[in-house]
Amino acid sequence: MKACVLHAIGDLRVEDVPQPNPGEGEVRVRIGACGVCGSDLPRVFTKGTYRFPTIPGHEFAGIVDAVGEGVDAALMGRVAAVFPLIPCRACAMCAAEEYALCENYDYLGSRSDGAFAQWVCAPVWNLALAPDGLNIDSAAMTEPAAVALHALKRGGICRGDRVVVFGAGSIGALCALWAKYLGAAAVGVVDIDASKLDRMRAFGFEVCNGSEQDASAWVADIFGGLVDLVIEATGVAAGAESALRSAQSRGRVVFLGNPAGDMNLAQDAYWQILRRELNVVGTWNSRFTSSPDDDWHETLQAMASGNFDACGLVSHRVSLDALPEMMASLRAGLDDVCKVLVVNEA
Ligand SMILES: [Zn+2]
Ligand SMILES: [Zn+2]
Repeated sequence: MKACVLHAIGDLRVEDVPQPNPGEGEVRVRIGACGVCGSDLPRVFTKGTYRFPTIPGHEFAGIVDAVGEGVDAALMGRVAAVFPLIPCRACAMCAAEEYALCENYDYLGSRSDGAFAQWVCAPVWNLALAPDGLNIDSAAMTEPAAVALHALKRGGICRGDRVVVFGAGSIGALCALWAKYLGAAAVGVVDIDASKLDRMRAFGFEVCNGSEQDASAWVADIFGGLVDLVIEATGVAAGAESALRSAQSRGRVVFLGNPAGDMNLAQDAYWQILRRELNVVGTWNSRFTSSPDDDWHETLQAMASGNFDACGLVSHRVSLDALPEMMASLRAGLDDVCKVLVVNEA
């Protein structure tokens, strides 16, 4: 099969590799679409993965086309997203069904081969079956959308909340979409990239360019005061400081953005945590379980309802052959990019 293989830091090549066969308890998925995650850029260009060679790609969906021993053959032909984390099932967090917090996990697309390929194998437990009629591109958005939903749940999202998201990358944009879907009274987005803000404005959100005006002053102005829930999705100190300054007393601030470097906070921003008794929480990955009330199944249901359109964030669609060039463009700073999907034509 064709795959995009990372041989060393900066060395991503399209090549032919053996098609994988499902082992006991596994399924094979013919990949329809796989998103490029923000974390794939450092993975490919600066930090590398746990071993080489590795096939990256962890935000994917496709069609089950082979099953291993002990797996129900009725799954053949089903469209599914795949939770990329394979938990150890031995640690305390696994016992609590908090698999994203597992201490010793395997991961498709970083520790094991992922989905920048035509096929991938995964344990059947990791399948999140798409409701009938949901297209594969939407299903491939399940992973980032579930990460965003998890962040809002960590922030205790309530109907009527006023919500501001700092950072309009794909996860930040998904947070804004979820906030609206979940009944927020008003949603604002702050970024420093005008094209990202244009996209968010087109979705109907209030937007602020943080490089042109003071974001917390804008929040107070637009929302008639500081807000109930703030999502920090920039991963830079200036964004985190503005996020802390934008939450009202006893408000909630969720730290979501992967830090790009040290996160040194100005003293007055730090003071807000104390003086306004802010509830500051972190969020990591998403919750996937075997029950239907987890982030993944909720995401698939919301997308199938037609009221949550994560595909509206797809800015580019490329083939596997074009992926190395696309990764180089993303690294160089491609204009007007949100979510890039790598698609395999059926
Ligand atoms: Zn990701
Ligand atoms: Zn574990």
